[in-house]
Amino acid sequence: MTDDYLLLGAKKRLIEELRRKGIDDENVLEAFDKVERHRFLESFLWNRAYDDVALKLLTGQTISHPSTVAFQSQLLKITKGLSVLEIGTGSGFQAAILSAMGAHVYTVERQELLYKRTSKLLAELDSRIVTCFGDGYKGLPRFAPYDRIIVTCGAPNVPEALVLQLKVGGIMVIPVGDESQTMKRFTKIDENNLQEEVFGDFLFVPMLKNEAKRN
Ligand code: SAH
Repeated sequence: MTDDYLLLGAKKRLIEELRRKGIDDENVLEAFDKVERHRFLESFLWNRAYDDVALKLLTGQTISHPSTVAFQSQLLKITKGLSVLEIGTGSGFQAAILSAMGAHVYTVERQELLYKRTSKLLAELDSRIVTCFGDGYKGLPRFAPYDRIIVTCGAPNVPEALVLQLKVGGIMVIPVGDESQTMKRFTKIDENNLQEEVFGDFLFVPMLKNEAKRN
């Protein structure tokens, strides 16, 4: 049996596990079939790539649990052609899932080394994704407004710039809190009002306040 064959089996089992954990958006599950999570990890971690665990990247940052990536992707209600801003590129896996679901993805990372490594990887795996180095608190005005915004680090509050860069009718999914986070979904019902829904507790790496960090 080749490694590829083993990884394929592990991927199928992960998709079944995601179904059991309540993921029922077929578009999300199909994206998990298309995107190979092991490609976003160092090879010594490949044997755990399809376990439902968060793993450490070499740069010290984290690739989220597959079930968290799936859950946030499902909350976003993605349909083909929507523009999505992601804050916290990290490994690039979440961005690749959203792109595989048919979204136009723009993603921002504040850690320069990680930004460079992941930009290179995504250029090989999925060149449609636009990667940017910057501070997610400022959003990404250049391509705004967005149909969807997803934050993949723990935000102490909802950044004003992100609300401004969300289209009316658009959805933002963001884990809010300092020590631990509450997953929130905001729908922008008009220029001045957000409707809030709450979806349980999660643990994310913090969304850092200072300027984008050059390594
Ligand atoms: N979406 C990622 C998860 C990455 S973990 C994945 O699929 O792997 C969260 C990431 O948010 C880290 O890489 C961290 O460096 C980044 N981050 C933290 N604060 C940020 C900020 N203010 N702006 C942009 N990125 C930030």
